[in-house]
Amino acid sequence: MSGRHEKEKGVNVQVLLRCRPFSEEELKNNAPQVVTCNEYQREVSVSQNIAGKHFDRVFTFDKVFGPSAQQKDLYEQAVVPIVNEVLEGFNCTIFAYGQTGTGKTYTMEGECKRSKTGLNGELPPGAGVIPRAVKQIFDTLESQNAEYSVKVTFLELYNEEITDLLAPEEISKVALEDKQKKQLPLMEDGKGGVLVRGLEEEIVTSASEIFTLLERGSAKRRTAETLLNKQSSRSHSLFTITIHIKEATPEGEELIKCGKLNLVDLAGSENISRSGARDGRAREAGEINKSLLTLGRVINALVEHLAHVPYSKLTRLLRDSLGGRTKTCIIATVSPAVHCLEETLSTLDYAHRAK
Ligand code: ADP
Ligand code: MG
Repeated sequence: MSGRHEKEKGVNVQVLLRCRPFSEEELKNNAPQVVTCNEYQREVSVSQNIAGKHFDRVFTFDKVFGPSAQQKDLYEQAVVPIVNEVLEGFNCTIFAYGQTGTGKTYTMEGECKRSKTGLNGELPPGAGVIPRAVKQIFDTLESQNAEYSVKVTFLELYNEEITDLLAPEEISKVALEDKQKKQLPLMEDGKGGVLVRGLEEEIVTSASEIFTLLERGSAKRRTAETLLNKQSSRSHSLFTITIHIKEATPEGEELIKCGKLNLVDLAGSENISRSGARDGRAREAGEINKSLLTLGRVINALVEHLAHVPYSKLTRLLRDSLGGRTKTCIIATVSPAVHCLEETLSTLDYAHRAK
């Protein structure tokens, strides 16, 4: 499928599906399993018996990762080629999309944030895409004889407003509200991309620093969450790694390669109102909805190869990383349990259409 799209349309969008294992709670309650993954056939089936009637739907993806798939498996099979593109000087994006509690953050950030890389430089098994990507980048750069720099930014998008998750200043409700009012503005960077003015750019010099940064960002996300009475399930987070590599051509000319990797942990898909938003959350649901719908349209537009695509703030931020010679990967996450059935089906439908 993707091969055909690639050849015919010059676009590279991959859609993967990951189903998490049962939680302890679900195991304790003997929650019936409704999702079955067939990794070899790249198929996910959703089935249930209701009043003697059997209900069954099958979805196919570019790759399928079942409950026993490890972080390392997903990374090696899906992310390594993307990071290689970034190291070649291209911009790529990975999205995690799914219902809250299905493993978006687990997939992107992972567990064991506190633990540093081990003695032999190995990552803990729970480490997600972000630390693994940073490690792959440093391992590659350190083995080359080139000058390079690696910078990261980490921001949160809530109600179309941007919060810097790496900004060093003390966080208070006043400061936060003030900052949100100021709404770090988006500006053209003159190279076809968009900059967030005032956003903290952190220079990283080794893979192990990433855990400290992730920790700082997540702590800030939690504080902002409490202070502003919101939930991270209703915000998107965007972690961006930018690398510059200085190389000399055989002719002795200097060449700077610049690549960028965007890692997006999207708002919980249950927040997208499908039947129209209710009460006070209308605007918020509307905004989440808008950015996700736009995103879906952008990805569709890419696949259809349209020149003009619709942009919300999230898609504007990703403008220089969607289309052209970029790789886009959507990791859709679901729960195996029956109580998530409805959301699971809409995640599968959405992810399927994004293709
Ligand atoms: P989300 O970010 O989509 O709301 P989380 O990443 O917070 O979901 O995951 C919810 C819970 O499930 C966490 O406790 C997480 O550790 C666990 N979890 C999610 N995916 C997996 C997985 N593939 N393997 C093991 N545990 C997982
Ligand atoms: Mg999360």
